[in-house]
Amino acid sequence: MDRPPFLIVAIDGGAASGKSSSSRTLSARFNLLHADTGSYYRALTAELLRRAVTPSDLTGVKAALGAVTLTTRVTGRNAEIELSGHTIPDAEIRSPEVTANVALFAAIPELRTALLDYQRGQADTARQHGFDGLVMEGRDIGSKIFPDADFRFFLFADPVERARRREQQGLQDQVARRDTLDGQRLHESLQGAVMIDSTHLTLAQVVDLLAAPIVARLTAV
Ligand code: C5P
Repeated sequence: MDRPPFLIVAIDGGAASGKSSSSRTLSARFNLLHADTGSYYRALTAELLRRAVTPSDLTGVKAALGAVTLTTRVTGRNAEIELSGHTIPDAEIRSPEVTANVALFAAIPELRTALLDYQRGQADTARQHGFDGLVMEGRDIGSKIFPDADFRFFLFADPVERARRREQQGLQDQVARRDTLDGQRLHESLQGAVMIDSTHLTLAQVVDLLAAPIVARLTAV
């Protein structure tokens, strides 16, 4: 049987919109490598905080970016970022301090540029590891990283529901504040994307909506 075509699926959306759990489930359903780019911005933020660099210290940010090399560790279906050969523990990248600072560091163009080619390179990583495609989630995937992605989705949810989800996960997160800081990027990534309101949907329902056009494409091949 022929190999299915290599697929790139871009999923953008605000904090707690349901991107991560649905991307993970989709990756298993279609044998895709899963790249959570929010975790890449979080890892760099954790590294900068470890080095006592603040978001207003551009010289310090540039020096730190020049001092780390970015590589990938594929664990199961997940493409984790390594900074100079080390991954940063999940507890640290999800810490309140990183969550409070990540959108401030992510607004720095030099930091975004440092991640650009790295993120695009995840398509090759997926091919090298025998995946049938890549599902990448973030804020600018369909607009900047893979504007020619095969599928572009934008997930959103009611702010009250998003705050409830974070609370349920036991995480401190001012989702509305981060969305304001991420505003322009979010606005650009929703242009031309398939919009999904996850407020009243279960994970399985969100995944079914994401999967439907992919199944249609695969069965049409
Ligand atoms: O997805 P998550 O909420 O973990 O992302 C953390 C932060 O990383 C976002 O609030 C945003 O500031 C930044 N980010 C970004 N571009 C992406 C992914 C995340 O600016 N593609």
